[in-house]
Amino acid sequence: MSEVAGNLSAIAGKISAACLRAGRDVKSVELIAVSKTFPVGSVREAFEAGQLQFGESKVQEAEPKIAALPGSLHWHFIGRVQRNKVRKMLQNFEVIHAIDSLRLASYTDEIAGELGLFPKVFLQVNVGREASKGGFEPDVLRAEMEGLLKLERLEIIGLMCIPPAGPDPESARPWFALLREIRDALEIEFGVILPALSMGMSGDFGVAIEEGSTHVRVGSAIFGKRSYRVDEELG
Ligand SMILES: *Cc1c(COP(=O)(O)O)cnc(C)c1O
Repeated sequence: MSEVAGNLSAIAGKISAACLRAGRDVKSVELIAVSKTFPVGSVREAFEAGQLQFGESKVQEAEPKIAALPGSLHWHFIGRVQRNKVRKMLQNFEVIHAIDSLRLASYTDEIAGELGLFPKVFLQVNVGREASKGGFEPDVLRAEMEGLLKLERLEIIGLMCIPPAGPDPESARPWFALLREIRDALEIEFGVILPALSMGMSGDFGVAIEEGSTHVRVGSAIFGKRSYRVDEELG
């Protein structure tokens, strides 16, 4: 078994354990293998081990990788969305995790219309109100929700967050819980269903699942250490 396959199987075990603790169906959690900075060969190893959902955070880096791999893989864009990359992003990715303004959402909706696509999107919430991170401030999201729901092409499936860095996985728990509460409140206020929560990474996906995560974005625990700090990348 390859190292990547071994890591995937260990993570599957941890996901099942977290689901058991939370009384959740293991099928309610999707593992997204975050392959940014790792070569096509690593993605292939994961694919051969049965992994089908992958995440990348830069369109430029992802495009040649996606082109080199089988079409049966499903790609999630988890990075900060740049306006000038929206078209290429939509041509390559099925799910967008970090829409963070009504303006950007409207533009993405317009380009999706031109391309004849109906992309699934998450709205990123800046739960810790950190200047360094992207995402809607919770109050701004409430104010813009009406406009977001009017967009015809974007299928808004839920919320995403990257919590403030903390000393241990438990320190992320209140932020995950907060994202779930914001979701619950939006569902009631706007009469919509937002079934998905994209939260949890290598260090804290177990806690995230206990707090309701449906999409965990796991990179280094599958592929190994990246050669630069994650914080530089996170938006
Ligand atoms: C890189 C990245 C991840 C994966 O981080 P790991 O700690 O390697 O699991 C998850 N989400 C986002 C938005 C990322 O940029």
